[in-house]
Amino acid sequence: MRSVLIIGAGAAGLMAAVFAAGAGAEVTVLERNEKPGKKIYLTGKGRCNVTNDCTMEDFLREVPQNPRFLYSALSFFSPEDMKNLLAENGCPTVTQRGRRVFPATEKASDVTRTLVRVAQQRGTRILLNQRVKRLLIGEAGRVTGAETEEGAQRAADAVILATGGVSYPATGSTGDGYRFAAEAGHTVLPAMPSLIGLESKEAWPRELQGLSLKNVRITLKKGKKSLYSEQGEMLFTHFGFSGPLILEASCHLPADIRDCMLELDLKPGLTREQLDARLQRDLEAGSRKQIRNILPGLMPGSLAEIFPSICGLPAELPCNQVTASQREVLVNRMKTLPLDISGRRPIAEAVITRGGVSVKEVNPGTMESKLIPGLYFAGEILDVDAHTGGYNLQIAFSTGALAGHSAATAD
Ligand SMILES: Cc1cc2nc3c(=O)[nH]c(=O)nc-3n(C[C@H](O)[C@H](O)[C@H](O)COP(=O)(O)OP(=O)(O)OC[C@H]3O[C@@H](n4cnc5c(N)ncnc54)[C@H](O)[C@@H]3O)c2cc1C
Repeated sequence: MRSVLIIGAGAAGLMAAVFAAGAGAEVTVLERNEKPGKKIYLTGKGRCNVTNDCTMEDFLREVPQNPRFLYSALSFFSPEDMKNLLAENGCPTVTQRGRRVFPATEKASDVTRTLVRVAQQRGTRILLNQRVKRLLIGEAGRVTGAETEEGAQRAADAVILATGGVSYPATGSTGDGYRFAAEAGHTVLPAMPSLIGLESKEAWPRELQGLSLKNVRITLKKGKKSLYSEQGEMLFTHFGFSGPLILEASCHLPADIRDCMLELDLKPGLTREQLDARLQRDLEAGSRKQIRNILPGLMPGSLAEIFPSICGLPAELPCNQVTASQREVLVNRMKTLPLDISGRRPIAEAVITRGGVSVKEVNPGTMESKLIPGLYFAGEILDVDAHTGGYNLQIAFSTGALAGHSAATAD
């Protein structure tokens, strides 16, 4: 019987165990924490957006980093398979807005509990409080096991590295696996925060802390080049910008953020001409008012309060004195309000880590290392990351399932 050692009992490691044990291997999982799946408990704000009920094509569109690498893994274990696996094991799911799938109980703990139970029912041993220190690689260049911090050496025919990235390190993902992979000769691309809030260069966005804008369009630009443009919801915070649109935009932000900026369209449903006509009507209707008093018809009150000064106009300017060029400035700013970014929030706060083990050195059909026979990778440790919507967990589940199956059935 083949022995498979899995390092890390997160989403990827647990699914690898389910499949490796299901394929008849003797499976041991080593987890440094006192309990498995610590990060899963935090997902979807405790509700766990476990996957996304979409087609392969739609799925790959949500993966800015190395989507094609995932083709085999997603074919081997799809979002549909994930829903079925949970339902068949007493954890039915519901599909909500944006095809996001959650456990029907809306409790992340039910997902973890189900995966642990299925893995154990198939014979997996999960050993807790076991932090792996290094991989064991034999003279033939083949992986032969791993050594824990206590110095215990565990031999195995195959080892699956499922140690995650470096975001939310309190959940156990502190980048140990990157070190193991690099020591084994793998290229590890620098870890960067992704799905992360962005810091504002200017003070005014921070003054709007707590304000959420719905149905706006955000365009991320580097110089004149547009890198991302989408409509949805964003949030002003004590550091600058967050909310779904900003998190997604952050996935497309290059490592070097020089010349990068966001453009906010407050009225994506209106052309400049339509917005100008609307503004003209509002100015005429409120001709005796100050401009700050008519702007709340076009934007939330707190933004309306400071919007004239963002446009370089006095807030007290009477509506009947607004010139055509001043109106043009107001319209231009409503359609393309520049949000200057000074940086990303720290990686510890990122929902996902970009970078990691280069997929060029991993066989996409098996998840096995192309450099070290018997070594497999699964989950966030790999240089793949996706938008929000259940895609990142599904990537962990699909790569975990394929790695587990391949490790258990290799010759
Ligand atoms: C706040 C938050 C919310 C999220 N919500 C969602 C969501 O709703 N939907 C979604 O799709 N994605 C979500 N994600 C992303 C998702 O959680 C990750 O993509 C996924 O958990 C990655 O799984 P993984 O198994 O690769 O890594 P991890 O879950 O990080 O697991 C790695 C495991 O390896 C263990 N480990 C590390 N080093 C060692 C070592 N040396 N020895 C032994 N064990 C070790 C760790 O303790 C950990 O248990 C969210 C992430 C965060 C931070």
